[in-house]
Amino acid sequence: MKEIILCKYGEIVLKGANRASFEQLLVKDLRYRAAQCGRFTVRRSQSLIYIIPEDDDADIDAMFDAASHTFGIIALSRAAACEKSVASLCETAKSYLPRFLDGVKTFKVESKRADKTFPLKSPEISAEVGGAILSACPHLRVDVKNPDVTVMAEVREDSAYIHAGQVKGAGGIPVGSSGNAMLLLSGGIDSPVAGYMMAKRGVRLDAVYFESFPYTGELAREKVMNLARLVARYAGTINLHVVSLTHIQEEIKRVCEEDYFTLLLRRFMMTIADRLAKEYDCRALITGESLGQVASQTMQAIGVTDAASSIPVFRPCIGLDKAEIIETARKIGTFDTSILPYEDCCTVFTPPHPKTKPELSKVEAEEAKLDFAGLVEEALNTDNHKRIKWQDQTL
Ligand code: ATP
Ligand code: MG
Repeated sequence: MKEIILCKYGEIVLKGANRASFEQLLVKDLRYRAAQCGRFTVRRSQSLIYIIPEDDDADIDAMFDAASHTFGIIALSRAAACEKSVASLCETAKSYLPRFLDGVKTFKVESKRADKTFPLKSPEISAEVGGAILSACPHLRVDVKNPDVTVMAEVREDSAYIHAGQVKGAGGIPVGSSGNAMLLLSGGIDSPVAGYMMAKRGVRLDAVYFESFPYTGELAREKVMNLARLVARYAGTINLHVVSLTHIQEEIKRVCEEDYFTLLLRRFMMTIADRLAKEYDCRALITGESLGQVASQTMQAIGVTDAASSIPVFRPCIGLDKAEIIETARKIGTFDTSILPYEDCCTVFTPPHPKTKPELSKVEAEEAKLDFAGLVEEALNTDNHKRIKWQDQTL
């Protein structure tokens, strides 16, 4: 008996003429991840992806985990491959399934007969396999309406398969299918979630983190790198740019009206991110902003920051409550890192009365007091570029 991983993909099947390119991306992504887990073959057939270990060293647990974090897959299961005969299906069910049926009371068997030459019809296969399971696990009962576990028996062209305990995949569409975007990644809760949400919609991520040495420290940077590693678990390799805002912040403080500090800083962030985006072939920016969350996230303030970018700004958290963002942060494993208490550059020189209804002309007048273009160039020269690879993920 050989154990393999079966992956079902979701939305891709609706892609009509473009379907093949989505499928290729998904298979490529899985092959990349598989290469880190040992020797596997990844192949696609009849809307399923088969991940097959090629030797005993191939780590199927690690691969299953990797596949369950791959966008484009809606469901996956471990399955036992066997010969295409009723006897073999029944034997395999008896030897392979009990480990998935611990603590389970009821089950049903569903069968698929993709190979129409197979002598038994689907209900007959289900009855045979169900009988075999009952003989091996007499504590079980069949419940066709509301079973604890659904066992699948599939007879396909190449082989037959038995599996149970299908789990939900990460959903979404394959990373890379929507192009690249630049995530503004702070050490907070929201921006890693925003990156995850856009990667789920097929976006390959670059990220930029703005720091302000010595006002922000080494630990704050380490925290952001860890967040990037956690997001990379889903999004794959992320190019992380680390840019210093120290001089910009000092100049804003020296020259501009205090109430505008945050907005001016945010416009610098957008402008620098926009420039990096162009350099690294990104077609949009991504932020973790949520409407009304803080003074710089009112509709007027967002309007003022938006104007500093020449490309679309995606804000997937815009309509989410903090509690909903936290729920996702917990699900994807970034929350505990996000709440580590290190300074962010946004909290350096925070004005006590930030403008919540700013006018763009007034912000621009404040900005005109600065050598805006010169400061942007200077900051871009500090870009310290790191590649956070999928295999660097923190588990
Ligand atoms: P988060 O929890 O994501 O830090 P926040 O509620 O703290 O968000 P702000 O500090 O106003 O909100 O930041 C809004 C967005 O601006 C962040 O979600 C992020 O996309 C971007 N941002 C803020 N600070 C930084 C930074 N130091 N580096 C990169 N991007 C940043
Ligand atoms: Mg923040």
